[in-house]
Amino acid sequence: MIWCTTCKKAVDTLATIPPSGTAAAKRTVSPAPPKQPMRPAVFQERNSPTMKVWIDQDLCTGDGLCEEIAPDVFALLDDGLAYVKEGDKILSEPAGAEAVAPVPAGQEEATIESAEECPGECIYIEVD
Ligand code: SF4
Repeated sequence: MIWCTTCKKAVDTLATIPPSGTAAAKRTVSPAPPKQPMRPAVFQERNSPTMKVWIDQDLCTGDGLCEEIAPDVFALLDDGLAYVKEGDKILSEPAGAEAVAPVPAGQEEATIESAEECPGECIYIEVD
């Protein structure tokens, strides 16, 4: 298989190729470009899911387990309920499904563990 640099198509018959050594052959025909392996970093970047989390405070028992497991993601406030955090900001107004916070890089496992251990079963994880 030969790659035509003019028409940008693969050419598989010699009849379409000008005689080798001619100016036309040098100008229009070249070997097929080498296949580039997909770089793992690009692959991961493109397929990296974005994790978000929110809490249904109506079901929260206030035991604080989530904050213990993932303090960068959850915070327990004076009202006895847990809320999600976005950086240093605690998303309590509004709360519930209207307060969806992105999970910080490296906190995905702790967030999942918090949801699994949550006695209120009220931690919801969304993945784009
Ligand atoms: S683990 Fe669940 S029930 Fe316990 S404080 Fe966190 S959100 Fe509320």
